[in-house]
Amino acid sequence: MESKRYNAFSEELKRVFGCRVHRISIDAGLTCPNRDGALGTGGCIYCGGRGSGSFGIARGLSVAGQIEDGKEIMVRKYKAKKFIAYFQAYSNTYESAERLKGLYDEALSVNDVAGLIVATRPDCLPPEILDMMEEYVDKTYFWMELGLQSVYDRTLRFINRGHTFAAFTDAVKRCKERGIRVSAHVILGLPGESRDEMLASASVINDMGIEGIKLHLLHVMKDTALAGLYEKGEVRVMERDEYVELVCDYLERLRPEVFVQRMTGDGGRDYLIAPLWSLKKWEVLNAIDKELERRGSFQGKALTGKSNHFSNSKSLSPNFFADSGPQPVINFPSTSTSAPV
Ligand code: SF4
Repeated sequence: MESKRYNAFSEELKRVFGCRVHRISIDAGLTCPNRDGALGTGGCIYCGGRGSGSFGIARGLSVAGQIEDGKEIMVRKYKAKKFIAYFQAYSNTYESAERLKGLYDEALSVNDVAGLIVATRPDCLPPEILDMMEEYVDKTYFWMELGLQSVYDRTLRFINRGHTFAAFTDAVKRCKERGIRVSAHVILGLPGESRDEMLASASVINDMGIEGIKLHLLHVMKDTALAGLYEKGEVRVMERDEYVELVCDYLERLRPEVFVQRMTGDGGRDYLIAPLWSLKKWEVLNAIDKELERRGSFQGKALTGKSNHFSNSKSLSPNFFADSGPQPVINFPSTSTSAPV
């Protein structure tokens, strides 16, 4: 199989485990401070209340039961041999350390589960939780996924995230101090952000030394505040070609070492309002591959200016925290502030 022009996470998993490894999404029955009233009850404007991006999870089962269910499907469909338990729905550090440890250990106790990915909000990582999570760095293949979505506080306020960009940088710093690998969720196409502003977030990711990224396309889902804005014509979604070009431009600006864990979103057929083209996920991924090939381009090309493959490119060795302080060097609009929502 031809190698990718970006640093595909699936290839990293093959290198580490010597076989195909599949992620199994889990809904551990947790919630989120932006839904349970601690910060608010409305949630992020694009979140339909099932926990963003958590479609297709077998709810109502224990953690181990969900993994066994997922394993059966993955073995049948892909002949998968190893699995990563992916705590995806809601905020998977928003509980006591004791209960969370029980959930993570339950996942790791299932045969052939070789690692953990825990998705959460940056403001749900108090020291006692991070202390507990640090233990998994040596125990298993472990990643923390942090919702960033945007590096602009004005956007974070608009989408009602309930945290600031500074909260994200602080969380990344504290994870890195403990040796916890971090990947960032970024949404492309958020209302009010120009193309240049979206692309600027790649430099921010680079400068923070984050190890992985998940690029999401802005989806309009049923029963969300975003759906109301979309129906009134107040927000738009991207066309497919526009998105493909943007992702390629983004990848060109991204450090070659950053693992690309996702390049489009899974909207969930029954809930998606727009853009409907995103349901054809493989067509989008293939179009990104083709566009990179057409350009003769690859991840990090804009940083190196060289025509070699990403894996041969030099690391920029950024030292964001030591050199730049807690804020990125980008042109924040005058309305930007670090004040909490
Ligand atoms: S943080 Fe996640 S679960 Fe909570 S409201 Fe936002 S998208 Fe939904």
